[in-house]
Amino acid sequence: MKIYNTMSKRKEEFEPLEAGKVKMYVCGPTVYNLIHIGNARPMIVFDTVRRYFEYKGYDVNFVSNFTDVDDKIIKKAIEEGTTAEVISKRYIEECKKDMDAMNIKPATKNPLATEEICGMVDMIRTLIEKGYAYEKNGTVYYRTRKFKDYGKLSHKNLDDLQSGGRTLLVTGEDEKEDPLDFVLWKPKKEGEPAWESPWSEGRPGWHIECSEMSKKYLGEQIDIHAGGEDLIFPHHENEIAQSEAANGKEFARYWMHNGFLNIDNRKMSKSLGNFFTVREISEKYDLQVLRFFMLSAHYRSPLNFSAELMEAAKNGLERILTAADNLKFLAGSASAESMTEEEKDLYGKTQEYADSFERAMDDDFNTADAIAAVFELVKYINTTADGTRTKEYLDSLYGRLQSLTDVLGIIIEKKEEMLDEEIEELIEKRQAARKDKNFALADQIRDELLAKGIILEDTREGVKWKKA
Ligand code: AMP
Ligand code: ZN
Repeated sequence: MKIYNTMSKRKEEFEPLEAGKVKMYVCGPTVYNLIHIGNARPMIVFDTVRRYFEYKGYDVNFVSNFTDVDDKIIKKAIEEGTTAEVISKRYIEECKKDMDAMNIKPATKNPLATEEICGMVDMIRTLIEKGYAYEKNGTVYYRTRKFKDYGKLSHKNLDDLQSGGRTLLVTGEDEKEDPLDFVLWKPKKEGEPAWESPWSEGRPGWHIECSEMSKKYLGEQIDIHAGGEDLIFPHHENEIAQSEAANGKEFARYWMHNGFLNIDNRKMSKSLGNFFTVREISEKYDLQVLRFFMLSAHYRSPLNFSAELMEAAKNGLERILTAADNLKFLAGSASAESMTEEEKDLYGKTQEYADSFERAMDDDFNTADAIAAVFELVKYINTTADGTRTKEYLDSLYGRLQSLTDVLGIIIEKKEEMLDEEIEELIEKRQAARKDKNFALADQIRDELLAKGIILEDTREGVKWKKA
């Protein structure tokens, strides 16, 4: 199995630190808003990487953080006249709903930066003791030039950085020993959330968060560290400098980065007005379509989002789902006898498609080619499955298809459609629960309906519902 390692700039054979296990850390979102479809790309891509490792029999320890203290969160809290905690809790909850709808497996652990401050303070202390960090007026900086390998991930040269850094130096940072130094701890400003530390009441820098959370939940050395390509520099470069200086060993064996998602061939940005949240897309499409769309390109290539490409993804996905439905339908009235010799032979041939699926995934997770193998299997299913086949044969084909679509996180089983009366009944039950002030039950019913794709809207005229 080969993985492209940003560090060596080539594909390398994957060798786990511990046989049969994968320790993987993916930098998560900063939670100050609903996630956008750009944020969804690393979520979908690295969930698929995880699923493929699991398919291959690895036990995956998958850790992904939420950055829940940050300037943007604080700004939003001030705008709304509330606390940073209220903002981050709200958007973590919303993010988890979107992730669920994109069929992203829950992480083994989602650490929150604000719950791990103690460990970060300890790590900063170690860096100071080892001479890799220093304090000035309550701020702690990392002494970048002291870390001899600085630049090894982003392949940047320190002297080039230095000339760029000078011009980038902002006011208030002139107390740094070197413009290349970066912040590990900063004192609070009025009204900001803050924690005690030996240097000042304040908060950690963003980079130290991931170094600490990765160490705490996965150990000093991990197999894979991942995120979007914008994180290579400075975030991941700084994480390496911190972790390797503090722990005295190589931090991550493989560094994986997804390419960016653009919209209509332009960078996605709020000011250009070409910006979509995952929630907005969910109003138009089942999020399986978004997932399928993302996996139709190689994860390292830039990916363009457009209405036409989403329609193409929708049609492609439909072909797979129709083949699966058809198998179920045929199996419903098929003979219960065991597979005939001819069918055994026919089924045996489907191994070929699984092999080419695996070959594609073994080659740095080439999901585009893996999907092509699924389409070949679908074609084979459509030509060999009909009303004359045994149930065992039809079920086996279904199983083969499902084992591959599971890796992609695509659900082929039909969602059970709810009847209108059932929905109305649950809404009545929820109204009664609210009247009794049993809000827990009321919320539970609303979530139950949401999981089945029914969205409730409380209006002045009463409760309205619609299908997502
Ligand atoms: P952020 O909340 O900005 O820290 O981003 C969370 C994750 O989403 C990071 O791994 C980013 O690299 C990734 N990301 C942000 N925007 C995009 C985009 N347009 N395309 C792909 N990945 C993105
Ligand atoms: Zn990170």
